Amino acid sequence: MVAFIIVFSLFGITCQAPTQRKKVLERNDAEQPVIRVGVLQGQTQVDFRVEGKVSFVNSKGDFALKGLQGGPWKIEAIDSKPAEYIYRLAVGTRKNRSEAEEVVRFAKNKGLDVHSNKIETIHLSIPYIHKSVYQIVLDKKFISESDAKTYQSKIQGKTNSEIIKIPQNDSEGILRFTNLYNNYSFDSPGPIRLSASQIQLADVEVGSGFHWETTEHRTYGGAFEFLLDQDGMITAINELFLEDYLKGVVPSEMPAGFPYESLKAQAITARVEAVSKIGLRHPFEPFDLCDEVHCQVYSGLSRNAERADMAVESTRGIFMIHRNEITEAFYAGVCGGHTENNENVWLINAKKYLRGVLDRDRNRLSTPLSEESNVRKWIDSSPDVYCNSARKNGPKSINYSKKYFRWQVEYKRQELEKIIREKTGENFGELIDLVPLKRGVSGRLIDLEVVGTKKRFIINRELPIRQALSKKTLYSGCFYVKKKGRSKGLTHTFILKGAGWGHGVGMCQVGAASMAHSGKKFDQILTHYYQGIFLQKLYN
Ligand SMILES: [Zn+2]
Ligand SMILES: [Zn+2]
Repeated sequence: MVAFIIVFSLFGITCQAPTQRKKVLERNDAEQPVIRVGVLQGQTQVDFRVEGKVSFVNSKGDFALKGLQGGPWKIEAIDSKPAEYIYRLAVGTRKNRSEAEEVVRFAKNKGLDVHSNKIETIHLSIPYIHKSVYQIVLDKKFISESDAKTYQSKIQGKTNSEIIKIPQNDSEGILRFTNLYNNYSFDSPGPIRLSASQIQLADVEVGSGFHWETTEHRTYGGAFEFLLDQDGMITAINELFLEDYLKGVVPSEMPAGFPYESLKAQAITARVEAVSKIGLRHPFEPFDLCDEVHCQVYSGLSRNAERADMAVESTRGIFMIHRNEITEAFYAGVCGGHTENNENVWLINAKKYLRGVLDRDRNRLSTPLSEESNVRKWIDSSPDVYCNSARKNGPKSINYSKKYFRWQVEYKRQELEKIIREKTGENFGELIDLVPLKRGVSGRLIDLEVVGTKKRFIINRELPIRQALSKKTLYSGCFYVKKKGRSKGLTHTFILKGAGWGHGVGMCQVGAASMAHSGKKFDQILTHYYQGIFLQKLYN
């Protein structure tokens, strides 16, 4: 199959002939799924505005109010009292037993007592989808959240974990709805659904914990449900068809001005990501997905764009399949020139279709970026890859991404010490050095050693490393450390020089735009970033 090999001078790039284009297979025997998206959580009061007529329905299907004229409303949690909880630490959730067993083995090797629980929550009736998930939790239980937190930071060096709250009884409280025009109000002890042509929610949190954190008013279609969660706080859920949901995701996850074929590729990855994350990310919550980066950014109708709508419609029902399963479809902003192997970023089994690739046709690097000297040269250069906006004949719409392709952050030593101390909880004294111990194929750090005057310790994995070295989160884990100046026998300034934005696994979004601009179709884009998958239409 390999017709020829050319070696480029700078990085020893080897280049292979393209394989034949893949077609979309048809199956079409499933129904379009309906999904539930959590758009507000943990609120004591929510303000919203309804356009057109509105009806409120309780959980028995009875009308609390019917055919009212829309307008401004508020909802309050009244007399609410949280449930009593016990707390546990979850070290992961996986879609199949063998992957869960892998995590159990990993944790046991680190001296942690864990077990895996099967959770059946998947309600989607489409083929090739997982039917249940397995959550791996520590055997240890905690009676307070602070006990769980203390233990969590104690085992942080061994594994990341998430605190889960297991209610021992029901929360209490009622929802009070008040019409702000006429002050009419009614109370409901249980969930209330409402359907209207449009509903606008005030102050929805956007991008929490990342550098673009803010709040905004958002407009939604479909049905809405308001309920009190186990803390006695208000949760708002938007329930809608998967294809309508995607119209609120695609323009939030990719600029609508990107070339059309890349928007189509984005529509498919967003569709696949949505169903593959169901049950996995929010197994105990009354919704399938949240609306943040954690699951996928969803802005309702607020950012809708005609081109994105068309990209969703023209790829309707198309999924990526590998070995009789709907794949994972991770994607990220700018890979920096090379994408990453999935197992180097998260503790999940290596997937054949999630191997890191050079972001440039079917090429390979012969100078591996896992080696320190290569990655330094790589970051200091401007390689001819799809996501390099300085590349010849690239689309103008990716110019904004220049600051992510290659970037630099500078810290005074004391400033960086403070950040690392706050983020990791480690009391390491004064900062002597940051030593890269292990990198993935894209140059992203897997293990970084922090050397202090009191102790040295290792930060493991891409996201914890990005979080530990920035007040918010570093653009990527692909960076090297340059030390400048000395004072009192220690380094004066630490400079982090980096490449890329995001985890780098799967599709590089800016690279996809550039591929589309050079004439590639959505299926060629997808099979470049997810090698060995095929595309299949599962419903009409
Ligand atoms: Zn989520
Ligand atoms: Zn890229």
